[in-house]
Amino acid sequence: MKRMNLIPFLDLEQLNRPYMEQITQAITRVVRSGHYIGGSEVAAFEDELASYQGRSHVVGVSNGLDALTLILQAYIEMGVMKPGQEVIVPSNTYIATLLAVSHASLVPVPVDASIDTLNIDTSLIEQAIKPGKTAAILVVHLYGRTAWDDTIEQLAAKYGLKIIEDNAQAIGSRLVDGRMAGSLGDAAAFSFYPTKNLGALGDAGAVATDDSRLAHTVKTLANYGSDTRYHNIFLGYNCRLDPVQAAALRVKLPHLDSDNARRRHIADIYTRAGLAKNRLDDCAHNYHQYVILDEHRDELRTHLAAMGIGTDIHYPTPPHMQPCYKRLLEGITMPVAELIARQAVSLPIAPYLTDAEASFIAAAVNDFKGSHRG
Ligand SMILES: *Cc1c(COP(=O)(O)O)cnc(C)c1O
Repeated sequence: MKRMNLIPFLDLEQLNRPYMEQITQAITRVVRSGHYIGGSEVAAFEDELASYQGRSHVVGVSNGLDALTLILQAYIEMGVMKPGQEVIVPSNTYIATLLAVSHASLVPVPVDASIDTLNIDTSLIEQAIKPGKTAAILVVHLYGRTAWDDTIEQLAAKYGLKIIEDNAQAIGSRLVDGRMAGSLGDAAAFSFYPTKNLGALGDAGAVATDDSRLAHTVKTLANYGSDTRYHNIFLGYNCRLDPVQAAALRVKLPHLDSDNARRRHIADIYTRAGLAKNRLDDCAHNYHQYVILDEHRDELRTHLAAMGIGTDIHYPTPPHMQPCYKRLLEGITMPVAELIARQAVSLPIAPYLTDAEASFIAAAVNDFKGSHRG
């Protein structure tokens, strides 16, 4: 095969290159405004994201982990949840999902993944629910694939649970009926970490909800627990969205759908080449990651690296096997999540990739699979 230029797993400078000039102008606007905390850029971004999501309220916050933690903490302040209650989480997720639950003095209860979706196996949720003890289901649309079916809504109604979405990876993804990830449950957390589909130039995040009391509580908690100036009703935090980040995000939000469409086009090249075996066609996927499973994962990565193709692993160790959860989650096994951790490899996926690069990557993967058959 003909060698191409190096294809890194992800090049953030190249990702932001089309927006460089507008972002620079937007940042200059913030510098000139003299408003460096809160202000009109933050308010405008909150309005624009709320209208994109079709939700009544968006509160800009410091990052995705804080967004999740603040939602749970706000439900505790509102008396909707009590410290020590349990929250159902997927076992195949980034550690932040579980950390948020722990930081809000709640208890994460991992439920194994489905090998078809790599998301939570919804048929296993009900047996993990303890009536009265379980407070919420925290769904994660991992890799951008919506983790949603009727089971989740039915169980939430049956047991009186809140549904919270970790939408860090799925901004712009939709169900087949058109409903948007991040607008499906009671509240959703967003991350604008630079590698996410809507990436800032540093840390940033948001909470979206139709619940005005929740939105107000999150906003108050994120600002020292202060409802009016120098009056603190909660033991709050400083978790506000930076106006420089808000200004940069306002440049990129209008292009999110076209960027995601370009990712889908690249993903289709991979899928048509037969790379992914799991189901991808039952939602409008934003392809935050394109993950394939391979028994010889490490050799595959070495083979691709030799051809100049960067890859990554999401994630090499499931949260329940991390040292920080050794005590709380000691002894649990999650066979599917553990298999995914052994076999998953993420291929380059970004709006700037060319069709030729995607075809080259697909051919390189198939070349390896061919030599490992039988
Ligand atoms: C990125 C991410 C987070 C955390 O977001 P930060 O902005 O990095 O704090 C949470 N959950 C998932 C699934 C993520 O991918």
